[in-house]
Parts: sequence; structure tokens; C-alpha cells
Amino acid sequence: MNRQIDIAVIGAGIAGASIAAELAPHARLILVEAEDYPGYHSTGRSAAFWSESYGGPFIRPLTVASGLFLGNPPADFSDCPFLSPRGAIYLASSDDDDALRPLEEQFAESDLMLKKLGRRELSSIIPGLRPEWDRGLAEDSCRDIDVAALHAAYLKQARKHGAELVLNAKALQIERSPGGWRVHSSAGDFEATKIVNAAGAWADTVARMAGLPALDIRPHRRTMVQLRVNPTAAPDLPLIIDALGSFYFKPEAGGRLWLSPHDETPSEPGDCAPDEIDVALAVERLQQVVDWKVEKVERRWAGFRSFAPDRLPVYGYAAGRDDFFWFAGQGGFGIQTAPAAAKLAAALFLGQTPDPLVAGVDPDPYLAERFMN
Ligand SMILES: Cc1cc2nc3c(=O)[nH]c(=O)nc-3n(C[C@H](O)[C@H](O)[C@H](O)COP(=O)(O)OP(=O)(O)OC[C@H]3O[C@@H](n4cnc5c(N)ncnc54)[C@H](O)[C@@H]3O)c2cc1C
Repeated sequence: MNRQIDIAVIGAGIAGASIAAELAPHARLILVEAEDYPGYHSTGRSAAFWSESYGGPFIRPLTVASGLFLGNPPADFSDCPFLSPRGAIYLASSDDDDALRPLEEQFAESDLMLKKLGRRELSSIIPGLRPEWDRGLAEDSCRDIDVAALHAAYLKQARKHGAELVLNAKALQIERSPGGWRVHSSAGDFEATKIVNAAGAWADTVARMAGLPALDIRPHRRTMVQLRVNPTAAPDLPLIIDALGSFYFKPEAGGRLWLSPHDETPSEPGDCAPDEIDVALAVERLQQVVDWKVEKVERRWAGFRSFAPDRLPVYGYAAGRDDFFWFAGQGGFGIQTAPAAAKLAAALFLGQTPDPLVAGVDPDPYLAERFMN
């Protein structure tokens, strides 16, 4: 296969799918995906929540704008919302008086509602909570995201506008060609005028392949376990997050529990797998929080959260180029920020005024050009 197109988007996770949906009405576009199904890597392994505080104040504008879209998507995109009520509680113990303060301070000047909870309220919301966990901050606006439905809707939208998804097409080599770029992939060659690098944990690898400097976007492993606990987790239990960042858990269908030890292990890109030590650590930490019996570890998995050095996403053309575009570094917030991120990045790519959804979002902190000196 040797195909001539306008844009080759490399990677069909949520980043590639969402920007493809935004760009496809403007160009002939191919989504080049290494795996035999899109979403095999980070996108299919997330904890699936939308939280305004997660990622800090610089991520919040993207999250808030995306929330408007996710909660009430346009009719031609989806006929049902992608968010459902969850709520979150940041939990702290009497061992650390100051655990909640950084979060309170970060959002003190904002309109984010964080409500103080004491021991009595906490123990009525979290049955079996051990006595030392005696303070918390509730973020009621937190929601669950239907990640699979969102990802599928983006791919469908991209296809509707003529984009083509090519699976089992690992980009192996990228070189300059008279028309722009020649991408040699395991499914054949593509000639593209421009490339969008949406390769997640492999974003630096793809840039190097194209002979461009890497930006030090590093994958960090995060582990999730699915448990059967006794008593079963109530379906309306909020997401419970340790204010000091050593665990979070939330209920899943059928009374199950999703639990993470909040690990962040720097790794090489690849097929991320959990380490049994992190699985054991997760269970041990849960047992320090509640008196529930862990009956079974049903499933464990791990995925990458890929961060630029300043932990902000990277949108924009590579230094000195107008044909290689970064859409990477989505960290631990790539799903909850996807709609705003894709609209902002598409406007930067096309040199157009951004969609009204992101009119209030300052793109400066995310621009790739911050690395150009
Ligand atoms: C355990 C965990 C929990 C998380 N929880 C949340 C959450 O609750 N909320 C939230 O918003 N975010 C969460 N995240 C973060 C979120 O999952 C990521 O930010 C997001 O999925 C990143 O999307 P992506 O498209 O950049 O990466 P990916 O989904 O990894 O997609 C990149 C794609 O590029 C492809 N690719 C790479 N190299 C090549 C190549 N050479 N040729 C062709 N294709 C290539 C890969 O095969 C892959 O499919 C979580 C992440 C993890 C790991």
C-alpha cells in the first residue's frame, strides 16, 4: 500500500481519535495504529473518572470545558451523555494534619466547590472506615466517564468525515519526501503532507523517527486492580482518593471495587503490565483504610500516564516546522480533557479561531513552542 494523504495521525487512542474527528472535515486523513484494536494501550486502561481538581489548576480549564461537551454532547456526535454521577472524597488521617491543605490552597481562588467533611460524615458515606481517617474534602462534581463510548464516538465521527483507520499499521520509519513525509508502516507506506504525533507513550520515539528532537515525554506505569470485597462496594460510593496520593478506589458494576496504589513508575514504552508488588501494595493500603474483607483479586492491569517535564500536555508544531504536530503528554487526564484538547489543538493545527467551547481556555501553557530554546 502506498497512499497519498494530507494528514497522517499516528496513534488511535483517545488523543488520535479525537483530533482526527476534528481535522477530518478539513483534510484527507489516515489514523495509523500499531495495534489490532484502537484503545489497546492507555485509553483502554484508565480509571474512567472526570475530576475538576485532578491534574491541578492548569489542567482544570481543559477539564471544565470538556465537561460541558461530555455532559451534553452535540446531537450529531452522541445521543447520550458520557458522564454519570460519582462524586469524590479526598481523605486524610489524623497522622497528618496538613494533608488536605495543598489541595485547598491550589483551588482557594477558584470557584471549585470543595466541601470539608468530618469523621461523622465520612463514616456514614464510607462504611467500615477505620477511625484514624477523620477528615476529608468532598468534590461532588466528580463524574464517571464512559471511556469506551467516547472513544468509539470519536472514531465514528472521524470516519463520517472520511478519515480512515488503519490497524496493525505500526509506523516503523518516517522520512522526508517531496510532498512532506513518507511513513513506512507494517501495513505499507503512506505519503502525508503533515503528521500528527498522537502516539502516547511513544510520542518521543515517533519524533526521533522523523529526525526531530524528543521532548522528554516519559511514560509512568500506573496499576489498577479489580476486587471482590465483603461487604460489596455500594454503587453510590464516591471515588475515594488519599489526599497524600497513595491510593484511590471506586465502585464498579456488580459490587466490585477498582483500586489503585497510585503508583507512578518511570518506564520504557511497551505493553505495560502490572507488577505483583504494586497489586499487593494496593490491597494492603485499602486494608489500612476500611475493614472490608478482600475476597478476590479478579483482575489487575497497568497502563502508562505519559508526562512532559512540566506535567502539562503538548500541543503544537515542532520547532521550525509546519508539518509535524505534537498532540501528546496527556498524563493522567487525557480522557477527561479530550474534547477541549482536540478542539484547541485542531485550531492550532489549522491556524483558525478555536471553537467556542474552548474560547475561554488560554492555550499558552500547553504550546509545544515552550520547549523551543
Ligand atoms: C491506570 C490509569 C488510570 C487513568 N485514569 C484516568 C482517568 O480516570 N481520567 C482520565 O482522564 N485519564 C486517565 N488516565 C490517563 C489516560 O488514560 C491517558 O491520558 C490517555 O488514555 C492517553 O491517550 P493517548 O491516546 O495519548 O494514548 P494511548 O491510548 O496509549 O494511544 C496511543 C496509541 O499510539 C499507538 N502508537 C504508538 N506508536 C505507534 C507507531 N509507531 N505507529 C502506530 N501507532 C503507534 C499505540 O499503539 C496507542 O494505541 C489513566 C491512565 C492510566 C494508565
